[in-house]
Formats: sequence, structure tokens, C-alpha cells
Amino acid sequence: MGVLDPLKGFGVTFRNLLTKPVTIGYPEHKTPVYPRFRGRHRLWQFENGLEKCVGCSLCAAACPADCIRVVAEENTPENRVSAGERYARIYEINMARCIFCGYCEVACPFDAITLEHSYELSEYTREALIYDKDMLLEPAPKQPPLRPNVPGDPTPAVDA
Ligand code: SF4
Ligand code: SF4
Repeated sequence: MGVLDPLKGFGVTFRNLLTKPVTIGYPEHKTPVYPRFRGRHRLWQFENGLEKCVGCSLCAAACPADCIRVVAEENTPENRVSAGERYARIYEINMARCIFCGYCEVACPFDAITLEHSYELSEYTREALIYDKDMLLEPAPKQPPLRPNVPGDPTPAVDA
């Protein structure tokens, strides 16, 4: 090691003291995802409340991870759930197996399922990672807006 090497090292340190940090203080600060990011799934309804999913199982057939379970049932005049002949009485996705490939979204002929931008999906049990239809019909939790990552800024980025 040369005599000047420690000084060179300190030079690097002092130079970076003056530059903008590249790290993000997650989870208080979050970077926005790309528009085509594939995160948590969502099932969609029409404005009149009818579900777009008709229980055809094409998404389940296309899923390479075999993690979608659809059990269809006929709509009746007394119980009309979807706009088609049938609806998904059970619609489940095992998020522990999902690889977020988006094939289910592509396979769906009715745009009934999409992958949204929410990615905070950790749970403590495997059971909690099986999303049922009610969960999937809920809008995905919004990602909070990006705030500048100011060192020492006590303001949380997530609105309480
Ligand atoms: S994103 Fe891919 S792996 Fe996940 S449920 Fe859809 S098809 Fe299956
Ligand atoms: S989400 Fe689409 S492809 Fe899957 S069962 Fe419903 S209508 Fe069929």
C-alpha cells in the first residue's frame, strides 16, 4: 500500500459526501414501478356491478404455475353475478406459486383480470397467500407517491 492510498480513499469518501444519495429509504420512500410492471392481480366488474369474469377457466389453463382455481356456476335470474351465462363461484390465486408472468391476463377474453402495480405481498403464512375472489375484486392497495429521499427527513412518504 502506498503512502498516498489512504488519502485517495478519503478523497472518494469526501467526494461522495457531496453527491446526491442513490439509496431509497424504503418503506417510507418508494420508487415508482414501470407502467408494464406486473404485481398483484385484480378482478374487474362492470359499472353496474356485474363481474366481468365468466368462469371460463382460460386463465387457469394458461397459467404455467397451476396456481389459479376457478369453479364456475350458472347465473340465474334470481342470482346474476356476471354478464355471461356463468360466473366464477370460486376464484382463487395461490400467490405463493404465482410467477407474475401475466399469462392469465393475456388469456382472458373479457379483460376480467389484470396485474396491477402493488407488490407488497408478504404474509406470515402460506394460507394468507391464497387470494379469494373477494380479495381479488378489491382494488389493489395504492403504492404511495414518491417523495424525495431527503436524508434526515422525518416526514413519512406514506400518508397515514
Ligand atoms: S401471473 Fe402467471 S403464474 Fe401468476 S396466476 Fe397469472 S398465469 Fe399464473
Ligand atoms: S378471469 Fe377471464 S379467463 Fe379467467 S375465468 Fe374469468 S373470464 Fe375466464
